[in-house]
Amino acid sequence: METYCRVVLREATRSFDREYTYRIPEELLGRLSVGSWVCVPFGKGNRSSEAYVTACLRTPDSDFFIKPVQRLLAERPVLLPDQIQLAARMRSRYLCSYGDALRCMVPSAVSAIQEKRVRMAELTDPAEAARRLADGEISRLGQQRVIELLLETGQAPVSEIMSACQVSRSVLATLAKHEWLQFYSQETRREPEPDNPAEHQEPFEPNPDQAEAIRRVSGSLTACERDADSCAEYLLFGVTGSGKTEVYLQAARTAVDLGRGVLILVPEIGLTPQMIGRIRSRFGSAVAVLHSRLTPSERYVQWQRILRQEVLVVVGARSAIFAPLRDIGLVIIDEEQESTYKSETHPRYHARDIARLRAREHGAVLVLGSATPSVESYQRSQSGQSVLLTLHDRIGSAGMAQTAIVDMREELRAGNRGIFSRRLTAALNEAFDGGHQAMIFINRRGFAGFVLCRNCGSIIRCKTCSVSMTIHYGPNDRDSGAEQAPSQLVCHYCGRLTPLPKRCPSCQSSQIGRFGAGTQQVEATFNQTFAPRIALRMDQDTTVGRSAHARILEQFEQGGADVLIGTQMIAKGHDFPNVTVVGILAADLMLGLSDFRSSERAFQLITQAAGRAGRGRDSGSVIIQAYNIDDYAIRFAAAQDYPGFFRQEISYRKLMRYPPFGSIGVLTVSALQEEEARAKAALLADACRSRLDEDDAFRPIQVMDAAKAPIYRIRSRYRRRVVIRGPNEQLLARFLLPVVDRVDCGKAALAIDFDPYSML
Ligand code: ADP
Ligand code: ZN
Ligand code: ZN
Repeated sequence: METYCRVVLREATRSFDREYTYRIPEELLGRLSVGSWVCVPFGKGNRSSEAYVTACLRTPDSDFFIKPVQRLLAERPVLLPDQIQLAARMRSRYLCSYGDALRCMVPSAVSAIQEKRVRMAELTDPAEAARRLADGEISRLGQQRVIELLLETGQAPVSEIMSACQVSRSVLATLAKHEWLQFYSQETRREPEPDNPAEHQEPFEPNPDQAEAIRRVSGSLTACERDADSCAEYLLFGVTGSGKTEVYLQAARTAVDLGRGVLILVPEIGLTPQMIGRIRSRFGSAVAVLHSRLTPSERYVQWQRILRQEVLVVVGARSAIFAPLRDIGLVIIDEEQESTYKSETHPRYHARDIARLRAREHGAVLVLGSATPSVESYQRSQSGQSVLLTLHDRIGSAGMAQTAIVDMREELRAGNRGIFSRRLTAALNEAFDGGHQAMIFINRRGFAGFVLCRNCGSIIRCKTCSVSMTIHYGPNDRDSGAEQAPSQLVCHYCGRLTPLPKRCPSCQSSQIGRFGAGTQQVEATFNQTFAPRIALRMDQDTTVGRSAHARILEQFEQGGADVLIGTQMIAKGHDFPNVTVVGILAADLMLGLSDFRSSERAFQLITQAAGRAGRGRDSGSVIIQAYNIDDYAIRFAAAQDYPGFFRQEISYRKLMRYPPFGSIGVLTVSALQEEEARAKAALLADACRSRLDEDDAFRPIQVMDAAKAPIYRIRSRYRRRVVIRGPNEQLLARFLLPVVDRVDCGKAALAIDFDPYSML
């Protein structure tokens, strides 16, 4: 009989973060197992602490007095044994605690629901809130969104407000402090998932490329079965519309027929309703969909279904990689290059790396799919670490769209100072006259990029962040159409709102102007130029709320507008057969950022946006507008030539020892006091330097001097950082582990990021 167990704490600082042994009391004998969620007395005061069981033992493994477990928090285990092993690996790889890693696997909603009550919020006085909103008294974008959402829905669970409005808990706390909003708790209704039985769809007869891909993946599935270490990795490379999803679905069918589980990751659920529909239509009720916009009770239901082994197929965004599937046969990551797969909060894992760890553990096959693979993944296929499967052509008669690059300097010389080139204007008119639709892509939301004083040259910046503020339409401008100029300035980092000044704050000159068009300005200009044609806009500002994405996409699909204008949100995933023209504005906006991935990102975005044209019977055209028309990312994207782009990019990465030929660790120290940030960053850099001498293995590691982060201030916090570079992430993690434990950061916060997606 196992009468002892080892546990790890749910909340622990790294210095207390290890396994502890407890006795299983009489009344819990036989009811505890690995993965059980318990309460244990901890520390000198025997504070009751939440913990997870990591092992059950027959004999105690320590001579000290062993305290008993207090109680069991859930009758069934909430974690699987392989998840506990995964947590241990994440701990050394991402320098986090067991609890940090395990929290990724047991969603907080699940623990909250256990208590059968959920925290709700509502407006104290909706009429008063509406008035304040209209009078422009709300000075933060986040607050504005929360109020708008609650005016619409009446009340909502706190966790749902946070994800729908993209705000932190502190935004709600501030609103509550001003008594604009109040909290209450409510009994949870465990309502079942709304049943929308998708129509059953038969698989397509695969074309030769698809057949080969399906054969290879299915072959590995049979061979890999329960043979860990020999798990296989594939890179499925094919332009959008080449039939990758069909390959996923048929490979998933093979796994399910073998009785094994399938994990399918998509970049963001809201952007891929069509894909979810297709998965449901093949696998029916055997599918669980996990995504960030689920309410806590919906999430709880789905999570329980997976844990009880009622489903074999799990679809979800990044965090679904941790789903408690028992026997995973196949892991699919669609659009594997997407940055949404990298967590932006601690622990900053990449879903692709977690997928490899889980695949190895389960003897599963990993399939990465993309039209524009990440440089890292394509390099793996070139060096034999994965197998490249290529789908060469688009399905159906439509070929690739015609692309053209328009030099905007030429337009200026010809006297066209507008946002749309003459060529794009002509193409749009032609499409509309033929009853077709168009999409216009620009990678900047808001009205204009920044406000510059022509007299003294100063740019209006946020008071608490060292970045320029962006012009937006405010709530009052909304109904006034394109006639009125927008009146609000927004900081995209902290959400601060201020009215647009009439004069320059530095020199009082009235010669202030706005530069760099954003989505709102494109929409306004479109309305002026193409009236009575109808535009729809999709960006972070128009997609607040649970179903806003789907609503806009549906409206466009059903012909409710002639053009869809948007940020990268519109570049991905949707299939609109009636779209024949795609305009890409300011294509070079994405280049020239001080970031080793900027060319890659520009190439991917332009290629994806271009791939939206001509998905139907009529061939399409893509018009790319740029000033810097000779850049290789733009050239290769216009030619839809991924291998060409890869060859050029990989030689640059190799030369500079950027990923995949090296790894970068960015340690960012932030503090409210400038001196605090400076001192702690210096301390950290010193600790890194002395660590260099501890082991010869660290010789290839380089430690840079502590320096200001490119964006020195965000939300009033000063940011300094130490950048380290080395041959790979594993060595950097091993190098940093004791450093992080030794340095006491005091009041400063430390964030650790390997190979970040944003170097700012
Ligand atoms: P991707 O995932 O690469 O963008 P999809 O799998 O969505 O491509 O395929 C594009 C379109 O072609 C879809 O509408 C799909 O239903 C259809 N399709 C895919 N494979 C076949 C096939 N073998 N025969 C006929 N139609 C197919
Ligand atoms: Zn000025
Ligand atoms: Zn700011």
